[in-house]
Amino acid sequence: MIIDSHCHLLHKNNEKSLDEIILNAKKNGVEKFLNIATCEDEFIPILKISDKNKNVFSTLGIHPHEANNMTSEIKNKITKLSSNKKVIGIGETGLDFYYENSNKENQIKSFIMHIEISQELGLPLVIHMRSAESETIDIIKTYYKKKEFSGVIHCFTGSTEFMQNLLPYNFFFSISGIVTFKNSTELRETVKMIPINKILVETDSPYLAPVPVRGRANEPAYITHTVEYVSKMFNLEYSDFSAITSDNFFNLFQRAS
Ligand SMILES: [Zn+2]
Repeated sequence: MIIDSHCHLLHKNNEKSLDEIILNAKKNGVEKFLNIATCEDEFIPILKISDKNKNVFSTLGIHPHEANNMTSEIKNKITKLSSNKKVIGIGETGLDFYYENSNKENQIKSFIMHIEISQELGLPLVIHMRSAESETIDIIKTYYKKKEFSGVIHCFTGSTEFMQNLLPYNFFFSISGIVTFKNSTELRETVKMIPINKILVETDSPYLAPVPVRGRANEPAYITHTVEYVSKMFNLEYSDFSAITSDNFFNLFQRAS
């Protein structure tokens, strides 16, 4: 069984209907999905999908691009709605100083609010990080000292140093189709050094379709290309690598098991 640990089933760039996406995924051995919220408007529609579909789980959070909109009211809303048992994580949150669609200060404030929810509810964080390695590590270290929490660096593209700095904490690294891209040489070197029990896989669909379907609208079924690629990097059978990453998913997202 393969689990897509990060997809956006609601986003308008999806080209198929939800039922078609799920059916096509199942045909390819992709059996569970973590559907990720990025803004407040998605919370209720996302919960409806996971309430209806046994194998779809949800996260609730405000994407760093949207962090200018984060408020304490939304923080309370996330906390309250997370009593739904299909909500298994908080996010996506994090820091993106590459695009800086929201200003840095608001991104940091929002990230900290998500960490506080994670600590309060004992639910792992789904973290987006781009061009903000030292700030991300500093914040995680500071808040971890107050109370432990766990999480995943989704669509991991960070440095080896960043990855190794996070290993003492309860953090996982989710590998997307980017690892299959021709110019991802450095990323591949880093991925090889991640302990196998810390690896998850994801599509981030409808974005970032892997080679050989790069450029198309991505969907969970296409995770098979990434799984095939990374299993070879680790000299593992496809089925063994799938089983390991699924176990890792349940180790992190304990509400899903
Ligand atoms: Zn995402």
